Amino acid sequence: MHEPVTALIVAAGSGSRSGQTLPKQFLSIGGKAVLAHAVDALAAHPAISEIIVVIGAGQEALLRTAIGDRKLGSVVIGGATRRDSVLNGLTATTGRRVLIHDAARPFLPAAVTDRLLAALDHAPGAVPILPVADTLAHAGDSLGATVPRDGVARVQTPQAFRTEAIRQAHAAWDAAREATDDAQVARAAGFTISTVEGSPLLDKLTYPSDFVAAERRLAADLVSRTALGFDVHSFAEGDGIWLGGIRIPHHRALAGHSDADVALHALTDALLGTIGDGDIGTHFPPTDPQWRGAASHRFLTYAADKIAERGGRIDHVDLTIVCEEPKVGPHRDAIRARIAELLGLQEAKISIKATTTERLGFTGRREGIAAQAAATVRLPEGNI
Ligand code: MG
Repeated sequence: MHEPVTALIVAAGSGSRSGQTLPKQFLSIGGKAVLAHAVDALAAHPAISEIIVVIGAGQEALLRTAIGDRKLGSVVIGGATRRDSVLNGLTATTGRRVLIHDAARPFLPAAVTDRLLAALDHAPGAVPILPVADTLAHAGDSLGATVPRDGVARVQTPQAFRTEAIRQAHAAWDAAREATDDAQVARAAGFTISTVEGSPLLDKLTYPSDFVAAERRLAADLVSRTALGFDVHSFAEGDGIWLGGIRIPHHRALAGHSDADVALHALTDALLGTIGDGDIGTHFPPTDPQWRGAASHRFLTYAADKIAERGGRIDHVDLTIVCEEPKVGPHRDAIRARIAELLGLQEAKISIKATTTERLGFTGRREGIAAQAAATVRLPEGNI
């Protein structure tokens, strides 16, 4: 059975039990939006041919920020209730099978998807469930009667359906009633819903403590990477240089295809090195006229964006500028502040050092400036 499968992610909620101002699907965990985690998990599954995201009206800009340049089959605007949102998504669904998923469950093991799709071979619907481990009881101001756990399960998403069956079930559902999930709608229409083993990883993020726990789980999967960068530019005629993202008046300039900011070039190479993604020349070839005179902060932020796209974060950068002139000391704070601004980091994570080579070598002869940099980042293990 290799029928196309649509993943329908419901991300239209505006609730904020998470204690944050943004709807929880747009909050960031591990440097990536909760919704983007869900999109990536589904996109990585080979059976899934289409991803549809349902957002609330007016959430378009939040979606763009959350998912960056990830490819979606379509973006659908949801309705007043979750069920309306699902209905709108089902209208856009092209797959013959559909996985309806809540964006607030960012960690979806591929094995659960495998089990759900396998179950659809024998039933019109399937849901992941987990047993209830705790004692269940009615509760208010005081404890009420215990609810027997036998035969009770926690129902998760994604919930998998043959598309025609779930469309038919939603059409038959009394529009005045809200449904807790799609399996309830399908069962009400008489469809048998199979169960498969769910996963604790699929627990919904709801409260602030859920986000703290999710962040910790992701941090445990982060791998630290350190890389170095090095660059040299020679002096030429001119009246100032770009160094570390700032303009320093000088009786000479630095020669180069771009603005020749030797410090930012070394730093850019260090950042690219942490993700093993070539060097500055790979991405901005000096043979390409569009980079003539280019401001080097573009190269630096490009490298930082590449790290962010992989869910990585920059822990620390360390830059050493080697020259006899100009004196770097008076500009150190400005360079540090500028690099912190460009990388979106606190200044405490930026180290700027300067040295001479005791008049030895090309820097000692005042023929040019050299810079070396080190960068330390943490990356999700799966994205290295
Ligand atoms: Mg260079």
